[in-house]
Amino acid sequence: VNRWRVLSEAELIQRYFMSAPRRADVVLGIGDDGAIVRLEAGHDIVVSVDTLIEGVHFPHATPPGAIGHKALAVNLSDLAAMGAEPAWATLALTLPDVDENWLAAFSAGLFGLADRYRVELIGGDLTRGPLSITIQIMGFVPRGESLRRDGARAGDLIFVTGTIGDAGLGLAAVRKTRVLNAASLEWCLARLNTPSPRVDAGLRLRTVASAAIDVSDGLARDLDRILSASGVGAALDLRSIPLSAAARDVYAGQVEWPAVVSVGDDYELLFTVPPVRAGELTILFAGAHCEITRIGVVEPTVGLRYTLGGVAWPLSVSTGYDHFASP
Ligand code: ADP
Ligand code: MG
Repeated sequence: VNRWRVLSEAELIQRYFMSAPRRADVVLGIGDDGAIVRLEAGHDIVVSVDTLIEGVHFPHATPPGAIGHKALAVNLSDLAAMGAEPAWATLALTLPDVDENWLAAFSAGLFGLADRYRVELIGGDLTRGPLSITIQIMGFVPRGESLRRDGARAGDLIFVTGTIGDAGLGLAAVRKTRVLNAASLEWCLARLNTPSPRVDAGLRLRTVASAAIDVSDGLARDLDRILSASGVGAALDLRSIPLSAAARDVYAGQVEWPAVVSVGDDYELLFTVPPVRAGELTILFAGAHCEITRIGVVEPTVGLRYTLGGVAWPLSVSTGYDHFASP
């Protein structure tokens, strides 16, 4: 059934979502009832899916190019946290109507990031309804080498890539609950709308990290997920949390720690490394263009404790966003 007035569904797919084949391991891409990919021997496949809903996962005013970018970025970030090499994606798109300008910009944002990581869009679905974007990503790792959440052990050191809290400041600015100067606003909005998934860092960490997760729902909540899965606790040193120049500027010496540890959408990697292996990180990350910072240590006693410059610091933070929690 043709659900579209202007172009047929097939024409829309052809125009906005078909691209030249870019991977030799795609046996059959868009156009049949299913796609066929060929996994190299000795590898595991890693699969993840995420849905973005307007007004929930991105503000209504988000430019379509940023929506296309972010929809893929959040999925790439999940594969990064697994230490997987991304390869194939499918896209289930629900649109309120056919707006070709919107589709062109959305597709450009999506394919811009897909090309950067050699990801091929191999299929999808198109329906009419309230705007929602679901991308399923698939990648691979050498058999058994995937990073997981459950491998942290007491004594392991806790690290994070990049900087924490920028996207949350950007969101606060969009919601007009905080006023940012022009330079900080530009940085924080870029971090909110067009995050750079840490795919390369995830690959480098494969042989050395004992556990990993991507920071999507806030540092405290995502660290807590590693700790719960691993059956351990941790001490987190607030002053070690890496803040961008933009964030430091916003806080002007009065850092709001509850906000820093609870805001989401950073898409950095949070990972643990056995202390005897930590020295290898310098060499592993040489030329990576990705800062990593040690922010704490895994402890045998369950629970997350905060310190500020070595002193216990009572901080009560909700452990982040939960779609189903009562307000
Ligand atoms: P079917 O009715 O068999 O599900 P569709 O008409 O939905 O087939 O899709 C035709 C082809 O186009 C399939 O290969 C499907 O994977 C692909 N496709 C549909 N929508 C999209 C999309 N938004 N992005 C990429 N490929 C898509
Ligand atoms: Mg279909």
